[in-house]
Amino acid sequence: MALSPESLLDVFRQTGAYLKGHFRLTSGLHSPEYLQCALVLQHPNHAETCGRELAAAIALAAGTSAVDVVVSPAMGGLIIGHEVARAFGVRHIFTERDTDRKMTLRRGFTLKPGERAVVVEDVITTGGSTLEVVELLKAAGVEVLGAGSVIDRSGGRANVSVPRAALATLQVTTYDPAECPLCQQGLPVVKPGSRPS
Ligand code: ZN
Repeated sequence: MALSPESLLDVFRQTGAYLKGHFRLTSGLHSPEYLQCALVLQHPNHAETCGRELAAAIALAAGTSAVDVVVSPAMGGLIIGHEVARAFGVRHIFTERDTDRKMTLRRGFTLKPGERAVVVEDVITTGGSTLEVVELLKAAGVEVLGAGSVIDRSGGRANVSVPRAALATLQVTTYDPAECPLCQQGLPVVKPGSRPS
């Protein structure tokens, strides 16, 4: 089954992952809607479908499916990265931030120079985390073929220096807090993301 962006958004609605309200995004801007990927990916059947579709989309963007390893930034990329790796039939490893906030490989994960990797996370907003992983991999002599995310909140603009794919590309409605109509209605603002405020 091919998963169109519209049917993907239906899955978000069915699983309660398409949140409506008044949200403060990581950028500081306010928004009337938020897609919480974790609420879709908590269901293994949806996670597997998303992984299979995203693997196909990344292979198309990269021009090859000859991938050796999938690498994700923790936490957001863990489940979708695992499912993309299942679809490619390869291993999945992840990066974590050390005490200096630097992206690193821990837990005995290793990469060999010349290995071919793709980088996967759940949501791309600026592409910053994916780009950090791409740079870590290139520094280790790994060939980075492409990158992907379930949701692209950049409207297609995020540049991660390698070919990139997403299952749905969104132009999210955002407001400057000073001009936010939801603030003007006195609605309390919620920080929905994975990062602490
Ligand atoms: Zn607001």
